[in-house]
Amino acid sequence: RGFSGYFWKAAPLPKAKATAQAAEQIRFDGQVAIVTGAGAGLGRTYALELAKRGAKVVINDLGGARDGKGGDAAAADKVVREIIEAGGQAVANYDSVSTPEGGANIVKTAMDAFGRVDILVNNAGILRDMTLLRMAPENWRAVVDVHLKGAYNVTRPAFAVMRDQAYGRIIFTTSAAGLYGNFGQTNYSAAKMALVGLMNTVKLEGGRYNILANTVAPLAATRLTEDIMPPDFFEKTKPEFVAPLVLYLASERCEHSGQIFNAGVGYFNRAAIVTGQGAVIGDGQTPPTIEDIHDNFAAICDMAGGQEHNDAMAALGQIINAFSAKPAGG
Ligand code: NAD
Repeated sequence: RGFSGYFWKAAPLPKAKATAQAAEQIRFDGQVAIVTGAGAGLGRTYALELAKRGAKVVINDLGGARDGKGGDAAAADKVVREIIEAGGQAVANYDSVSTPEGGANIVKTAMDAFGRVDILVNNAGILRDMTLLRMAPENWRAVVDVHLKGAYNVTRPAFAVMRDQAYGRIIFTTSAAGLYGNFGQTNYSAAKMALVGLMNTVKLEGGRYNILANTVAPLAATRLTEDIMPPDFFEKTKPEFVAPLVLYLASERCEHSGQIFNAGVGYFNRAAIVTGQGAVIGDGQTPPTIEDIHDNFAAICDMAGGQEHNDAMAALGQIINAFSAKPAGG
């Protein structure tokens, strides 16, 4: 699942325009952040940057191996020490995100130490790569348990606190492997794309409480990627290049919700589920034939004029409108 075969096929990317320095620094003073899997890699960097800008941070990390086995309090403790030595505030939590009890305890750690939760970065992750035919159920389960159930386990109790505060920022961590697929990662791809589904509905349920949810697909040199990137590129992909986007999404300044972003090495873009205009076949009275599908397949597949939808009802509304005498809601 290496990258090297693709490098030379890619088109050049547009450069961002130079911008004036933001008038006011974005800060997190008085805010409390939970970062799961903050003992290493991207999570550690998010936590350090949040603390530098005034947030009090819960450093959750089980301290296990890349495949999720084992555990060691040293990972979280080390990051807490780094933050405190730099003059910031942080506490450690060693629970696994993979159980509801662990999730509840992570949020309790924040409440006991700091009394609120403004930011949750669902970042903890493991890998158990193998092709589908070799994917034993325990390897499927372990990855889904940490990425997908882990995000549910922590987000649910955090959401309750955010609702009571009428403020919250939640970041989910997906992956290009989930958004686009990656050979040998069925478990990981499935779990990572499922997080987009989780975000899609958290966005709707959180909106009325000023809880915004967004999803980031990072690209960074960590122990999860050390064996798939060419060494010279690995050197460049520092987690510090992903952190600014995550911190922006975690800030009061961000007003977006329900968005997916790719971020790495200083390249940022938004990804989205886009629905093509499609084709109405028949009158809704008689089901179309298989041959009708064949004959219209190009129109069904055409993405020209594609649209994003804010929720399922908006998407279904298109179908309802196509076959209703009166437009839906009219
Ligand atoms: P990493 O291994 O350096 O960090 C992940 C951390 O999560 C580790 O410290 C680990 O101990 C912790 N963790 C694992 N299971 C846990 C559990 N059950 N409970 C609590 N903590 C647990 O890897 P990383 O690259 O920094 O990954 C961070 C996130 O970014 C992951 O969700 C990963 O899937 C995602 N991601 C990373 C990349 C990349 O390029 N590095 C690409 C796409 C997605």
